[in-house]
Amino acid sequence: MARIAINIKEGKVVKEEDLIIGIDLGTTNSLVAYIKDGKAVAVKDKAGKSALVPSIVHFSAAGGILVGDAAREKLITDPANTIYSVKRLMGKSYRDVAGLEQYFGYKIIDDDTESLVKIRVKDRFYSPIELSAEILKALKIRMEGELGRPVHRAVITVPAYFNDAQRQATRDAGRLAGLDVLRIVNEPTAASLAYGLDKENQDAQTIAVYDLGGGTFDISILNLHEGIFEVLSTNGDTFLGGDDFDRAIIDYWTREYQWNPDTLSQNKELSQALRLKAEEAKKALSFEERWHSSLNGSPISLDRASFEELVRPFVQKTLDCCGKALNDAKLKVEQIDRVVMVGGTTRIPLVKSAVSAFFRKPVYDQLDPDEVVALGAAIQADVLAGNQKEVLLLDITPLSLGIETMGGLMDVIIPRNSKIPTRAGRQYTTSVDGQRNLKIAVYQGERDLVEHNRKLGEFILKGIPPMPAALPKIEIQFLLNADGILVVRAKELRSNVEQEIEIRSSYGLS
Ligand code: ADP
Ligand code: MG
Repeated sequence: MARIAINIKEGKVVKEEDLIIGIDLGTTNSLVAYIKDGKAVAVKDKAGKSALVPSIVHFSAAGGILVGDAAREKLITDPANTIYSVKRLMGKSYRDVAGLEQYFGYKIIDDDTESLVKIRVKDRFYSPIELSAEILKALKIRMEGELGRPVHRAVITVPAYFNDAQRQATRDAGRLAGLDVLRIVNEPTAASLAYGLDKENQDAQTIAVYDLGGGTFDISILNLHEGIFEVLSTNGDTFLGGDDFDRAIIDYWTREYQWNPDTLSQNKELSQALRLKAEEAKKALSFEERWHSSLNGSPISLDRASFEELVRPFVQKTLDCCGKALNDAKLKVEQIDRVVMVGGTTRIPLVKSAVSAFFRKPVYDQLDPDEVVALGAAIQADVLAGNQKEVLLLDITPLSLGIETMGGLMDVIIPRNSKIPTRAGRQYTTSVDGQRNLKIAVYQGERDLVEHNRKLGEFILKGIPPMPAALPKIEIQFLLNADGILVVRAKELRSNVEQEIEIRSSYGLS
């Protein structure tokens, strides 16, 4: 039964069920987009100026919550209650973020454990999921304001390198915001859709999508053939982006002007003000040779050549990742037909020229690098809604999945860069006479020993009938669905004893 809704503004009858919105939930900025009259558009603020919603949440003393530009203004005046870059904390444990506390103006409570991080705001503790949900709610409200009716369904993008816990956390944030998240899509995959390269009159082509944002770097190698996108490989760094460039500028000024680093780290207001100045300088230097300003009455400046020296090592790191992605795809650089630039940081001329030199061809940068991911998410949403039947999307899993075998070895069942959804299985047996139980521990990662990989979960196949060692036939099946959620099933084939778990994340959603 479909509900019918009428858009009061335009007087059009719309089937409410048909609309699915596309959301780019970014580390730095988030956007919402949808298909309007057959074309993907990002929804701008009320003033019609910007589609970007800074991914920042502020908690006021009176208990109010601000999101976006209004929250950004509080970074200086009220840093302890202003939360930014929360995406970097999604699905992470305290141990994962140890040593990074100084980069956050707010309080990450630190109990040095494997449990998931919480952020302290006044007397309350918030999970990154709850904070992301606030950003998603703001986007949902913006969308509803634009359409004049409620929306319930969304596609949300994540970096290609997000693991299961991070993807699941993103999905949960959507649910908390009142959105049914139909699909989690890799950002580079969405970007490639936004560029509409599938609509061009060409045979097979190979595309590299280079996405350098505020907090993450992703490189994806895609193959496009007869309107079908296939991801050949991905690589990247979840801790590399424009934020690092800003920090490098601050460190440079600290040396140059002989500031006392301790004063800076103790004065949160000052360090936030500096952060904004550094970003202002960086952005200006994408278009000018020199930048001047002042901070607390003292002049500060930066020129493009010095800036380029500061960030060159970061740019080189991204190129190293590009090389690895090419290796994984078993491609030579000459075999890449197009290079697509995504993310605000790709506006930097040095980044463009370095990437262009690496791939030995001009880069595609004509679309707004801020919007492409959200636009692609909207197109993917439209595909899911059944409006674009000719497009088919294949995603891949960025990390290998396997189980622990004798001696703590990782036995890979689904190799990295496998297309998903996928299913794979293998037969095992027992090592002891009369063995009744078999423990199955599931890991994700590329190292030979499971202790170096990430444990996703474990379960015990119980009630194997007593048999001599090596006689039972235990089949272990991995099913990875389109969102990257894994179901592991173990079955003893002689007795049909069976057990399965669904691995949604490492933080214990049952
Ligand atoms: P994310 O995907 O991490 O949310 P975005 O793609 O929105 O990030 O990019 C945000 C980053 O882009 C920020 O670090 C911002 O400073 C940077 N950025 C935006 N405009 C420019 C510019 N003109 N020159 C250099 N960097 C820029
Ligand atoms: Mg982005």
